[in-house]
Amino acid sequence: MSSPQSPANYGDENVIHDYEAHVNPSLAALMKFVGYDSVEVSAQGCVVRDSRGREFLDCLGGYGTMSVGYSHPHVVATVREQLERQAFGSRALFSAAQTRLAKKLAEIAPGDLQYTFFCNSGTEAAEAAIKLARLKTGRTKLVSATGSFHGKTMGALSISGRDRYKTPFAPLVPDCVNVPFGDARALRETVDEHTAALLLEPIQGEGGILVPPDGYLKAAREICDQSGALLVFDEVQTGLGRTGKMWGADWENVAPDMMLLAKALSGGCVPIGAVLGTPNVWEVWTENPLIHSSTFGGNPLACAAGFAAIEAVENENLVARSQEQGEKLRAAFRATQDKHPGFVKEVRGRGLMIGVEFAHDDVAGLVIAGLVGRNVLAAYTLNNPTVIRFEPPLVISDAQIAQVADAFAESVASSAEMLEGIEF
Ligand code: PLP
Repeated sequence: MSSPQSPANYGDENVIHDYEAHVNPSLAALMKFVGYDSVEVSAQGCVVRDSRGREFLDCLGGYGTMSVGYSHPHVVATVREQLERQAFGSRALFSAAQTRLAKKLAEIAPGDLQYTFFCNSGTEAAEAAIKLARLKTGRTKLVSATGSFHGKTMGALSISGRDRYKTPFAPLVPDCVNVPFGDARALRETVDEHTAALLLEPIQGEGGILVPPDGYLKAAREICDQSGALLVFDEVQTGLGRTGKMWGADWENVAPDMMLLAKALSGGCVPIGAVLGTPNVWEVWTENPLIHSSTFGGNPLACAAGFAAIEAVENENLVARSQEQGEKLRAAFRATQDKHPGFVKEVRGRGLMIGVEFAHDDVAGLVIAGLVGRNVLAAYTLNNPTVIRFEPPLVISDAQIAQVADAFAESVASSAEMLEGIEF
């Protein structure tokens, strides 16, 4: 039942007007400029519907969150059952939902990641990992990669790799060093006996969907073992099948000391973040089990969603599907690239974590607007606006792949025509 004040009765103009008045006027202007000028009301699988009945095929997927698709029936049913029984916990007694998810994560995680600390987002997972690494090693230096994205709270921002988001907030957390991504020699020169942790995305997401050279993650593991630094993989975007393997680090069969999760673990339903760690790292909790904590972290609703999301990934073979469908989508994009080689510079990625690099960020912007106009939701990568990212739900069908491929081909062709004669 919807009351006169419920979102269903709000009215598009009122929503956009009140968003401008009460949320973020500049972001509203940007959204309208790109063509995101309507209000979403429902979503299922890969499709988002707006209040005018228009249907969009979502290739942004909440920045890589919607791996099992919107409103996945198993996730929704599990969350509903939990919601009706107990949404949040007392924090005094043990929680079966939390424990069950932690055990499941230990079963499917690489190496001997056995324990989980739960929080509510990716950035909180990065914060926790930074603190645990410093506590465990007694060292302060944190090494991470240029172009990386680990979140926007102070610690996560300090290890992230784009000055545009960092400089306005200086001074940040001290002793954080960025090295070029994919460069094992730079790791060797920088990770040393003062380093608490090396934090890397196995495939960079917001940096522009960058796949490191083969052997990079293995080298990172060796360098950490030699220096005594902890290796932390940020799998917030790459985890749970996004790249065509369960974990991005599986491409090199490397196990970290800690692994960060969020996004897809929510089942697209309830926010969650997680830090997995080895028994060695988890010694840090012995002296003070509350040295780091979160009120909502590990709440039953989020953990029920997380468990159901993993079940959906397993039961529907979404890891293999990501690989298969990703190959098809990249092949289609490459066919368009062949027709406009100076315009589309590169198509890259793994599984359904795909990036298309354009000659200039204005070109990428034009193509995004063209895609939205053709009912495909897309956006650029946050730390590299020349790259459009395609991260649809892993359940995307062949017909939907064809729809994206056609919209992309048409949008690139019309953008190229508009910009003909301009040198980039
Ligand atoms: N780490 C990675 C690799 C991410 O891609 C993101 C978000 O895009 C984050 C961390 C931060 O996650 P959140 O936005 O949930 O704080």
